[in-house]
Amino acid sequence: MPVPLPTAKTRWRCTLCGNLTRFDVTRSSQVVEYVHLDLAGEPKVEEREVLSEAVESVRCRWCNAADQVELVDRPGPGAEPGQV
Ligand SMILES: [Zn+2]
Repeated sequence: MPVPLPTAKTRWRCTLCGNLTRFDVTRSSQVVEYVHLDLAGEPKVEEREVLSEAVESVRCRWCNAADQVELVDRPGPGAEPGQV
């Protein structure tokens, strides 16, 4: 079952245990990294540009169920971050 992606108005909920907040997300992404090596040869990634990204699987941290998430509405209007 494909993983439904949350939107600005929805969030994930584990259909088995009701968990809303903790998930392990397996994501595949294609990125371009600007690697800057120092004179000793130690690499450091200084910039990362994401070309594409896809969520492959979501596992519940509470009950370990894989891809058993559904979308539910986020808390109502007015619940902006920092305003609760
Ligand atoms: Zn769960």
